[in-house]
Amino acid sequence: MASTIPDISLNDGNTIPQLGFGVFQIPPAETVRAVRTALDVGYRHIDTAQMYGNEAEVGQAVRESGLDRGEVFITSKLNNPFHRPDDARRAFESTLAELRTDHVDLFLIHWPLPTRYDGDFVSTWRTLEEFRRDGRARSIGVSNFQVAHLERLAAETETVPAVNQIEVHPYFGNEEVRAYDRAHNILTEAWAPIAQGRVLDDPTLVDLAEELGRTVAQVVLRWHVQRGDIVFPKSVTPKRIEENFQIFDFELDDTAMERITTLDKGEAGRQGPNPDTFDYIPA
Ligand code: NDP
Repeated sequence: MASTIPDISLNDGNTIPQLGFGVFQIPPAETVRAVRTALDVGYRHIDTAQMYGNEAEVGQAVRESGLDRGEVFITSKLNNPFHRPDDARRAFESTLAELRTDHVDLFLIHWPLPTRYDGDFVSTWRTLEEFRRDGRARSIGVSNFQVAHLERLAAETETVPAVNQIEVHPYFGNEEVRAYDRAHNILTEAWAPIAQGRVLDDPTLVDLAEELGRTVAQVVLRWHVQRGDIVFPKSVTPKRIEENFQIFDFELDDTAMERITTLDKGEAGRQGPNPDTFDYIPA
């Protein structure tokens, strides 16, 4: 049975497909094939980043697919070395050149890096506001922003981020940040939605999947979308790319939702770096 992917409204009036395809850790040489497969399956939203080193291949896959540029929602993200406004402007131009497009649908500050740049992510955000004003970024947002970082943007700038892309999965609910996002009309994008595979052997999830006749990945992705978050699972495996797309033809009841939500381990469940201390600047 075919899946229809809902479009969700952003706070700036644009819309975003709730399910997309992530390309973190897909080597450039494999990216065209993986993204082509995803587009053939029906995905219309690709999540890349300058840091992933595969923007050019994402652009190539979209062109080769024969789809119009306007049919595919493309997100990219500012890499950590480029937070100063002039660097951000140059880096953004390079994103458009790599993708060979005149706009991205969404551009994010990848990490807040509060211990770098004298703690100044505000001037970086103002630079993204320029990209939005000139139309080269249809929407702008942030990634890995904690509540204090979002509060600072709210106090010092004009634009509320359209999205906050943060780590969220059954072992790490990240509820404090999600609650802030919800209260301020910021959509949460859940990165590592299946915890990079770590939740797939969880006994509660295995039981639930058996009861529902679904795979664990499908059940977990379905949990995310019923909570209203945006997801873009990554896979280089065609069968999994297809499987992860089939999540809009079944529902979890309240009890099933709650069983998954209670797997949250709090901070101990975090898989990736803590944004308050993460300060990685790639060479
Ligand atoms: P995911 O939670 O999407 O997990 C990806 C892993 O799970 C891969 O090893 C993949 O294997 C495996 N997998 C995928 N689907 C299935 C399935 N149906 N059954 C079994 N295994 C499966 O992790 P990601 O870290 O990739 O997160 C998703 C996206 O989020 C990224 O690609 C990126 O776009 C974004 N992201 C953003 C970050 C940020 O800082 N803003 C940080 C991390 C991710 P295989 O490929 O071998 O099939």
